[in-house]
Amino acid sequence: MAKVVITSGPTRQYLDPVRYLTNASSGQMGCELAAMGIKLGHEVIVISGPVSISYPKEAKVVDVVTTEEMLSATRDHFRDATGLIGVAAPCDYMPQVIQSQKIPKTGNNLILELVETPDIVATLAAEKHENQWVVGFALETEDRRHRAIAKMQRKRCNLMVSNSAAAINAADTDIEILNADGMLIEHVIGTKRKAAQQIWKAITAYCAVNCARR
Ligand code: C5P
Repeated sequence: MAKVVITSGPTRQYLDPVRYLTNASSGQMGCELAAMGIKLGHEVIVISGPVSISYPKEAKVVDVVTTEEMLSATRDHFRDATGLIGVAAPCDYMPQVIQSQKIPKTGNNLILELVETPDIVATLAAEKHENQWVVGFALETEDRRHRAIAKMQRKRCNLMVSNSAAAINAADTDIEILNADGMLIEHVIGTKRKAAQQIWKAITAYCAVNCARR
């Protein structure tokens, strides 16, 4: 039994008390990965942005809103965990200034200055110990395989799951599971449950070879 942390869902970056940047991530893939992890006997901690789905009751769920909060909670739980699955779609940008009052309409354009948020997977993969593993996801609209491999190497992930934009907020998905050498392990077209089974199969095979027994 391993302790595994899963980031899931979107994050929100507020511009003012009522408006925010986000994306349409539903948390469904994170939910299926959590359910399969529990079925395999693992302790599962889900760090989730705002979603309307319910995670399995056996999982510990930590609710967060912003990307920085997601990083902080994930780092806290990953410290003594074996693995991290980064399936969340955190907002990559946040406003440089968050207004404390609602921004009034003036009749003119509103120009926002956005700064990059921290990359959770890249940050924690760079901090990981030799017995810890990190699985990243890559959502690309073109040149999927090549870009996913580049992302895996840049973010120092042990496995990468490439999916297409059609997977967002959808029941089905089309994924490629790639190992650290960029080799295709599995191509899955079907439900997110089926994808979760194959992702866990790849993680289990990776651990059998690379993870020292604790
Ligand atoms: O957004 P991008 O395609 O770069 O996301 C790839 C991987 O990085 C995903 O696993 C995602 O969860 C993770 N990510 C993250 N923090 C961000 C952006 C992406 O952990 N700020």
